[in-house]
Amino acid sequence: MKYEEVPETIQISFEKIKKEYFPYLANAKILFLISKKKMMSKGRIVLGKIVKPSALVKYLSRNEAPDDGYDYIMYLDTKLVHHCDESDIERVLRHELRHIFYDSDSKNPYKLIDHDFSDFYDEVDLNKDDPNWANRVARTISLIYEQEKDQMS
Ligand SMILES: [Zn+2]
Repeated sequence: MKYEEVPETIQISFEKIKKEYFPYLANAKILFLISKKKMMSKGRIVLGKIVKPSALVKYLSRNEAPDDGYDYIMYLDTKLVHHCDESDIERVLRHELRHIFYDSDSKNPYKLIDHDFSDFYDEVDLNKDDPNWANRVARTISLIYEQEKDQMS
């Protein structure tokens, strides 16, 4: 299996972050999944990724997430979830949640937005204790994948 359920700690972190920074997501239904396979984009490791589920996935998840199924799916790297500090996981969660654009005027209010540079302005401020956190965490995770590969060969 390429995916795995997240530990309960992720859901707890999400609830905490949502209350503090994302009150407009009170009713958003987000499925968190661990990606057991390394996710890459433009030669860089991807720590987390948020997407809109397909119509089929929405339909299939209608019982689990009434009435319309999940609004979003967030994939998290397995090494991030299992080897990194809670504070770094929360940075990733917050970053991914910033990709959500809640359009209260629309009947499909849950949209996605991209950023102009590698982060969102609000996050830059929240991460000013460690502005280079994303590279640091990506490096740590890459090393863990490398070590694993070495052990297997
Ligand atoms: Zn992003």
